[in-house]
Amino acid sequence: CSPAGMAAAQGEHPPLYKDASAPVEARVRDLLGRMTLQEKAGQMAQIELSVASPRALAELGVGSLLNGGGRPPFDGASPSDWAGVVDSMQRLALSSRLSVPIIYGVDAVHGHNNVIGATIFPHNVGLGASRDPELVRKIGEATALEVRATGMHWTFAPCVAVCRDSRWGRCYESYSEDPEIVRSFTTIVAGLQGQTPADHPHGYPFLHSVRENVLACAKHYVGDGGTHNGINEGNTICSLDDLERIHMKPYPDCITQGVATIMASFSQWNGEPLHASHFLLTDVLKGKLGFQGFVVSDWEGIDHLCDPRGSNYRHCIAQAVNAGMDMIMIPFRFETFLEDLVFLVETGEIPLSRIDDAVERILRVKFISGVFEHPFSDPTLLDVIGCKEHRQLAREAVRKSLVLLKNGKNQKEPFLPLAKNAKRILVTGTHADNIGYQCGGWTIAWHGDSGKITPGTSILEAIQKTLQVETEVVYEECPTEATIEEENFSYAIVVVGEVPYAEGLGDRTDLSIPFNGSDLITRVARIVPTLVIVISGRPLVIEPQVLEKVDALVVAWLPGSEGMGVTDCLFGDHDFVGTLPVTWFRSDDQLPIDIRGANYDPLFPFGYGLKCSEAMKI
Ligand code: BGC
Repeated sequence: CSPAGMAAAQGEHPPLYKDASAPVEARVRDLLGRMTLQEKAGQMAQIELSVASPRALAELGVGSLLNGGGRPPFDGASPSDWAGVVDSMQRLALSSRLSVPIIYGVDAVHGHNNVIGATIFPHNVGLGASRDPELVRKIGEATALEVRATGMHWTFAPCVAVCRDSRWGRCYESYSEDPEIVRSFTTIVAGLQGQTPADHPHGYPFLHSVRENVLACAKHYVGDGGTHNGINEGNTICSLDDLERIHMKPYPDCITQGVATIMASFSQWNGEPLHASHFLLTDVLKGKLGFQGFVVSDWEGIDHLCDPRGSNYRHCIAQAVNAGMDMIMIPFRFETFLEDLVFLVETGEIPLSRIDDAVERILRVKFISGVFEHPFSDPTLLDVIGCKEHRQLAREAVRKSLVLLKNGKNQKEPFLPLAKNAKRILVTGTHADNIGYQCGGWTIAWHGDSGKITPGTSILEAIQKTLQVETEVVYEECPTEATIEEENFSYAIVVVGEVPYAEGLGDRTDLSIPFNGSDLITRVARIVPTLVIVISGRPLVIEPQVLEKVDALVVAWLPGSEGMGVTDCLFGDHDFVGTLPVTWFRSDDQLPIDIRGANYDPLFPFGYGLKCSEAMKI
């Protein structure tokens, strides 16, 4: 029996908001009308699982929980453990006076990347190379299923940043430097949330079928990818015209596709923090663009406005909420935050109407999401995590994301596809056999990690699987010249690249290949015909003498768990289709590249990408 049904059976009149058949707006108004100011404040707080308690959920009624940076509830937690934890939190929330369910959020930004065994899709920069919005929609669907299987309701994705400076540590979360390409990938919103039929009675574009979809969150609004010198959480200095033309471009599409939530950016626009910008959050986003979902702050977003220990902190809470912030992610000492919010309303610094608007938006999303009717996880979904079908989709995505930058020392003699029947080949480089490096940041740990962090196929394993019978595959991470000379290899595959990072940890001014990658490439390529594969969230510096020495060059970005997608193209089972989503600069002193300027002189221009079949035709 539903709660409403049980109440009816006992002869009580169930509250309207519990009636799933009532119009969404009537349910929102009914529930809001029953809430105390304290309960409204509770809905506006999102706290981390590690501080969640019966008091936070059952008494204070916080609106949402999250797993920041993918921290598992405990080491080695299985998918069903995660679901159990989320459900137990939900049970606490439902025991509150009005039984308002929580929504539980997670950064599932390339698959359900915090969960060991989940399918890890390529990071966005690789998907950008595929130029395939339908593929990305399907990835959204698959990701949503895996997230739902662990009982969670909300992912902080997609990142629709338009990355304009490769020095920024979050460029790999951006689909492209080109706003139109980023815009085209907002199909992921429809994949994650499910599509609402145009004539749906609730009248809002956003919906998820709670069984199979999750709420999406477009981030980071707005200008995150345009900060001066590519500094994370920095200042984006540009006119309103440019802000709209470049960085805001994907947002109207996200809204049309029904994105339920939008996260404010830590960055500033011409010196004004986004978290405090009434103009951008309220006038533009909710006004001009007509966004009807809710705005969530970034992690401890208010603490970026002023020191939480300082006397001004309350004022900063008011500033953010009055600017249009609806939910605060990780408010500093959340119990004090809730008291502060109430105080600010009672003293008139925040109008009650603003609080009501924020809570209405949050409740509207909760009603539409179906979480009131289906608050718990569905154990029958657990099998989807890392299932064959999703791994096939990830493999397809990897293969479509590869960009072939060089193929043969001259165009008449293409080097790829590689022979499957070579006698002996060398596989080398720091990234040849490292799933963690392949996956990059936001995988199992916030900043990612090295080694076998989750099930998958490394590039070395994929090569070994493809060449099982005829070829001897010799793997050595860092061979000496003598070894290379002795063994008489038919060819070598050198896999080099970046070490995983997240957010500001990835800000760099030196974008040369880590671990002296250029030296290894030259050492090998001097002796053996060599293919280089770059595993990286952004272009890296490839010196002219290095480029000249190598026979072929492929960028695989951060492909994720399915290394077979790489070998699909290397050995000619599929051709390369990817093209550069970003400009490949010559040296880091060219950054930021003026992509429309007269002096545009990169190593490989935006949109560049070869095909084996074309090279063969020449
Ligand atoms: C990041 C967001 C992320 C949030 C929650 C922040 O530090 O900027 O992109 O969604 O943490 O983990």
